[in-house]
Amino acid sequence: MKAIVALVLLVLVVVIYGFQRTPPTPKSSPFSEQRAEADLRTIVGFGPRPAGSEALAKARNYIVAELSKAGLKPELDEFDARTPRGFRHMVNIRAVRPGGRPTTIAVTGHYDTKVFDRFSFTGANDGGSSAAWLLEFARATAGLKLQNTLEFVFFDGEEAVVEWTDDDSVYGSRHDVDRRYRDRKLNDLKALILVDMIGDKSLNIRKEAQSTSWLKNLIWDTARSMGYSKEFPDEQIEVSDDHVPYLRAAIPAADLIDFEYPCWHEACDTLDKVSANSLKIVGDVVYSSLPEIDRRVSQSASR
Ligand SMILES: [Zn+2]
Repeated sequence: MKAIVALVLLVLVVVIYGFQRTPPTPKSSPFSEQRAEADLRTIVGFGPRPAGSEALAKARNYIVAELSKAGLKPELDEFDARTPRGFRHMVNIRAVRPGGRPTTIAVTGHYDTKVFDRFSFTGANDGGSSAAWLLEFARATAGLKLQNTLEFVFFDGEEAVVEWTDDDSVYGSRHDVDRRYRDRKLNDLKALILVDMIGDKSLNIRKEAQSTSWLKNLIWDTARSMGYSKEFPDEQIEVSDDHVPYLRAAIPAADLIDFEYPCWHEACDTLDKVSANSLKIVGDVVYSSLPEIDRRVSQSASR
């Protein structure tokens, strides 16, 4: 009898221990937390980076130089935007990793910061995290084989110059949609992923309500399978962001944004509030989602 009790206990211990040890196992990716952190420190170190500023030009030069070092051929897409404070010269940065098809998956984020007259706004998370993340993500995809073309777009002028309205916001993404339309390339764009404010130490990326269902569900399912249900909870939140101009043009788009950030548009949005580990988690999740996004895009294109 004793032997049976002991055996049952042993089985229980093994089962419970096994349950704790079983997956989800985070799949890693070539996204480097260390490089992302160095990029973030460098970019934020240039100071406040509103559209048209000298500091934003320095950030741009750094991003362009690093993309070139990574073997990409970055292009500057320059335009003059009409803002409530007059015309502003703005520059989107684009880099392409060609696939077997011209149909394109874009991974995007903004690299400008909001201008505040009352205080100096560093934008470690809002503007800094998306720029650093996208730069390292572009490097990390060097060995990723996709059927479709992968494109990286760093948006200028996401922030309102005065106050957020349809006309005073998302200048870079609105320009990008217009340019693709004029070049008759808009239909090549089959999916767009946007990241914004993904550096918070306590990462909480809820599903953005307007984002295209199949695309966001695929990314959140991937996150869950990797053990990141806490960082990618199932609740919805609606946020206006650079993905909206694409949605309006009927391009599938998903916004990954952590809007529960106590220092949003505050002087305290500084480097001590953000973590490169959060960038790495988002990097791993998006990287692991891309093969399935690629498959879906190819399937719908060949229909
Ligand atoms: Zn902002």
